[in-house]
Amino acid sequence: MASTYEKLLSTVKEAAHTANLAENDYISLLSPEREMHISIPVKMDNGKIKVFKGYRVQHSTLRGPAKGGIRFHQDVNIDEVRSLAAWMTFKCAVADIPYGGGKGGICVTPSHLSETELEKLTRGYTRRIVSFIGPKTDIPAPDVGTNARVMAWIADTYSTYAGEFSPAVVTGKPLPLGGSKGRVEATGRGVLFATREILKKLNKSLKDQSIAIQGLGNVGGTAADLFYKDGAKIIAVSDASGGIYSEKGLDIPQILKHKKTGKKLDSFEGDFKRITNQELLELKTDILIPSALENQITEKNAANIRASIIIEAANGPVTTEADRILEKNNIICVPDVLANSGGVIVSYFEWVQNLQGLYWTEEEVNNRLENKMIEAFRLVWDVKETYNVSMRKAAYIKALKELVETQKALNII
Ligand code: GLU
Repeated sequence: MASTYEKLLSTVKEAAHTANLAENDYISLLSPEREMHISIPVKMDNGKIKVFKGYRVQHSTLRGPAKGGIRFHQDVNIDEVRSLAAWMTFKCAVADIPYGGGKGGICVTPSHLSETELEKLTRGYTRRIVSFIGPKTDIPAPDVGTNARVMAWIADTYSTYAGEFSPAVVTGKPLPLGGSKGRVEATGRGVLFATREILKKLNKSLKDQSIAIQGLGNVGGTAADLFYKDGAKIIAVSDASGGIYSEKGLDIPQILKHKKTGKKLDSFEGDFKRITNQELLELKTDILIPSALENQITEKNAANIRASIIIEAANGPVTTEADRILEKNNIICVPDVLANSGGVIVSYFEWVQNLQGLYWTEEEVNNRLENKMIEAFRLVWDVKETYNVSMRKAAYIKALKELVETQKALNII
């Protein structure tokens, strides 16, 4: 079976073919520039040393420093990190922010570690990659299983080695360390902006839509909150413990309050039906927002998807084979490289603020985010119309063109 990265490559090659690009122009993008496999020994609270496996992949630095999050999850592996790094390259090009793509990860279940163990692990990981990251080379950020606290440890460890306070080495930091207002909510907020744009194109109003959200982490949780506040009816949500469904719409504020205490959905009580994550994906709903992990909609369940629109808040939730089935069934998919770019866009704003030492208000951050997302959406839509292709293919064509332009500009010298 083809790996996630191989499937991603087939998407890239198909887009290049449709756009009539010469292989010479994009072939370098098919192989990551640099991959690090690292082992991180940590003395656990019980005195035993445990060695964790970690990775950092810099897929491309063609358009600027590698940029992308660090994932802490038990399923992290090199194929996943490589794919996530490549998605960042295309995402940054679609959003037109001056970065390449990178990603990192550690194979760990963060909830099984104490705070001290997690800090040691993060600092150990940072020491292993310290010569390869930096504000102008590779800039990590949060992803699944990591947060502002983890970013603070990375910034602090890096700064110690650099011999100077270097907040711009990482984004998604806590506010007192140079974090940006609006960064925590940025991906979820961007998902809302992308949804509004697609609904405008289809002459639909958010208020009339039923929505199912898979995943209630930072992205899915924020999206649920913002969609609810915007008047949408959220009929289903889920986390790793399973999902809940109510045709009348769920009480999102109560659900989020429950989740904030660290509890799972399976201990939340109320007037709804319990469903599995799989059932959530196959619900009859107007909009489906997968906000968890990759490879959720595959050739096995794609034919059962009954949503009209899929907004990819997660990275890679729909496989290449599933994409074809969805397209045949006229299901519109707003691809990850566009739909979830709000996070990295505000990461870019954070980096700009760090380099300038000048900080923006939350309103300014959100307005700039909205403008960037609307513009990226418009440009992708134009390509879609020009080539008569899916939004995913259009996004890849747009990104490839940006990357090829940069490549050509370099070759002139
Ligand atoms: N992890 C996020 C993503 O997949 C954010 C990356 C960043 O801000 O650099 O887009």
